[in-house]
Amino acid sequence: MKTRAFLIVTFILSLTLLNQKTMAQGYTFPPLPYAYNALEPYIDAQTMEIHYTKHHRAYYDNFVKAAAENKIDNLSLEDIFSKASTFPAVVRNNAGGFYNHSLFWQVMGPDAGGQPDGALLDAINKTFGSFDKFKAEFETAAKTQFGSGWAWLAVDSDGKLFVSQTPNQDNPLMDIAVKRGKPILLLDVWEHAYYLKYQNRRADYVSAFWNVVNWKKVAELYNTAVK
Ligand code: MN
Repeated sequence: MKTRAFLIVTFILSLTLLNQKTMAQGYTFPPLPYAYNALEPYIDAQTMEIHYTKHHRAYYDNFVKAAAENKIDNLSLEDIFSKASTFPAVVRNNAGGFYNHSLFWQVMGPDAGGQPDGALLDAINKTFGSFDKFKAEFETAAKTQFGSGWAWLAVDSDGKLFVSQTPNQDNPLMDIAVKRGKPILLLDVWEHAYYLKYQNRRADYVSAFWNVVNWKKVAELYNTAVK
């Protein structure tokens, strides 16, 4: 009888553990939404391939490992970012690297560029004065980020647009960000994002970026953020 009771208890415990396992977030490495050469000539195929398969992949793998080790793999990325300051740097850096690149691929695309329309364009004009003034402010953020980091267009808690810059793999969703909000456009200014084609000419890479911005996706993110 004792053996049977032990087996039943073991069985129930296994089910509980299994259930906890299925409650984990199940983070997935997202597919690149286009071919490596799709953003040529502005972003070259070799840079895209290395950026996606090596850099982004490493952030993802290291994040999954760090999340398990820190027992936070039941949390969404948004939850992790909102408490980023309470976690070890390995969590913050790799969660940021995983999320930032996943979003970065989405806001670019082939046959893109131009300018937004509708509610997003209205909000840009209202906030920055004009689309060109917005571009200038975003470019300044991208060019003046010292060392590695990102430039952002994001929506704050009042639904207002702002441009900002963050170092390393930080982002505006993090509690440590100087300006907090929901990102709708971002530009990677780490050297790994442009060095093969542009070498030290970050400004040329930043100007070229406008040719590949997928404004349809940015507008979708904007509409969701202001809801
Ligand atoms: Mn990168």
